[in-house]
Amino acid sequence: MLKFRNVTLIFCLLAVLTALFFSHLFVWLFLAIAYLGYITYGASVISSGVFISARCHGNRNLKQVALTFDDGPNPENTLEVLSLLKNSGVRAAFFLIGRKIEKYPDLVFRIHQDGHLIGNHSLTHADFFPVKPAAEIRGELLETRRLIEKITGEPNLYFRPPFGVTNPIIAKALKGLDFQVTGWSIRSFDLSRQKPEIIVERILSKLKGGDVILLHDTSPQILPILNKLLINLKLRDWEVVRLDKLQGYLNKEKEKTE
Ligand SMILES: [Zn+2]
Repeated sequence: MLKFRNVTLIFCLLAVLTALFFSHLFVWLFLAIAYLGYITYGASVISSGVFISARCHGNRNLKQVALTFDDGPNPENTLEVLSLLKNSGVRAAFFLIGRKIEKYPDLVFRIHQDGHLIGNHSLTHADFFPVKPAAEIRGELLETRRLIEKITGEPNLYFRPPFGVTNPIIAKALKGLDFQVTGWSIRSFDLSRQKPEIIVERILSKLKGGDVILLHDTSPQILPILNKLLINLKLRDWEVVRLDKLQGYLNKEKEKTE
């Protein structure tokens, strides 16, 4: 993937050439739409790697997948989610929101105690998080890291951007923080009102080796969804591993160089 700066330079060059030789409204419109499309794609598709290199899946040739849960801890569902995972012998990753960690530290301790990976999902998960000043975003990540490390006693290395949105501000905020930015390769849409069986069927129909599945322990339907998913994964011989144990869990850039 071409880096944002290089693509911007190419567009600047095209703009100069347009100004010199082809200055016509349609050419300018085409350039503007193409550049906006590129920015939108980069910001909304975390696996694009336009602004930040995020890890989104593991080795495609192995029958392994990883489950990830965002936006918790949630007093309504997290304990039951943990029970279902324990009964299936599955370890997952939970990307937690700092403000909820402050509110429910016992749940966070329980997640850690059950052997799951705990990741950083910002302090506030505010709607406007992606457009906050870089220093504020950095402060959110560091405070959430502090909260996680205080409870787990282990370094917090994984960060998943709220909404999966990446942009140059978040890239700037992350500089020097040594986070592994984490995306996903299958979005479950478990927050939609579709029936659990339809949601699970869609996940299974898309499933490929190395997939990282995005779920939410805040979904009102998470228990039936997770139950059906775990049963079906087992029936179809999928190995479910903790995110950091998923083989070949590398970002696209690294994969290209290997
Ligand atoms: Zn989220």
